[in-house]
Amino acid sequence: METKTEQLFNFLDGHATRIAEKEDLLLLEAVYETAKAWAEGTISPDVEDATKEEVRKAIQLAVLKGMKANAQPHHQMTPDSIGLLAGYLADRLSKGRPYLSLFDPAAGTGNLLFTVMNFMDGRTAASAVELDDLLIRIAAATADLLAQPVSLYHQDALRPLMVDPVDFVVSDLPVGYYPDDENAAGFKLKSDEGHSYAHHLFIEQSMRHLKPGGHGIFIVPANLFESRFATQLHTYLKDEAQIVGVIALPPGLFKSQDHAKSILILKKPDASPGPKPEVLLANAPDMTNARAMESFFAKVDAWAAENGYRTVN
Ligand code: SAM
Repeated sequence: METKTEQLFNFLDGHATRIAEKEDLLLLEAVYETAKAWAEGTISPDVEDATKEEVRKAIQLAVLKGMKANAQPHHQMTPDSIGLLAGYLADRLSKGRPYLSLFDPAAGTGNLLFTVMNFMDGRTAASAVELDDLLIRIAAATADLLAQPVSLYHQDALRPLMVDPVDFVVSDLPVGYYPDDENAAGFKLKSDEGHSYAHHLFIEQSMRHLKPGGHGIFIVPANLFESRFATQLHTYLKDEAQIVGVIALPPGLFKSQDHAKSILILKKPDASPGPKPEVLLANAPDMTNARAMESFFAKVDAWAAENGYRTVN
């Protein structure tokens, strides 16, 4: 028997494929039109009581198929396993607070943000920015379908933002060079020669939009601290942030070692008394290995308890 996620995916994919053909749309555009029509109630699947995660996963599968069909290599959704880990970390770092504001400055389709919001369902509201017009429209339709409160902004996230300071930035940062040198000039992490690294500027922009004591959970290249701008990044972080943790993600998630990623957790300094937390350094195991995941979570929980982050259990 099909799962509800499969039934919802078949509904989305079937409708999208039909309208793509009929209206000569790209499959990804048709997936957006389908999700929007579903959110507006013009069409609806014959599936009862689907959970928010079942809906998110079905949309994710339909979007992935749409992206593959149109060969859009730059539009990479953040995989579920990374999103769930980010949600778990945000939950642990939140010290059980009942309400959290979130921000993703590079939201794409919102898959990472919605995975985190579903993980802490009912406790979060978010702002999100994305440059790509189709991706942000998909994120908007998904937010409606999941009933997650998100304010979306279609703009360059490295320009001034209308976003109030938040408790958490959660973002899978775009990696590479930022083409707008003039705008980059306003950042401490600008390059003195040629283009700056977009992912470095995104870290700086995110730190600006955190409340004191707020945390950034960033998906970054695993070699972040080995690049040609690493010294400059170290100096910036020493002055402006506290490194809370670095978690290497399992290599199997990425197509090659060059594409490997880590999770970097930063805290915006505040006036809270007491010693700085010890830096959490860990390797996330293969997420299909239940026993290894259990011992990884136990390690993070123990670190959280020892470093002033109350554990939820
Ligand atoms: N977390 C997203 C998801 O689950 O769909 C994927 C994020 S993807 C790794 C990075 C995103 O950053 C891309 O969607 C890209 O369009 C966006 N991006 C790149 N440069 C940007 C900029 N200057 N301002 C806003 N968004 C940007």
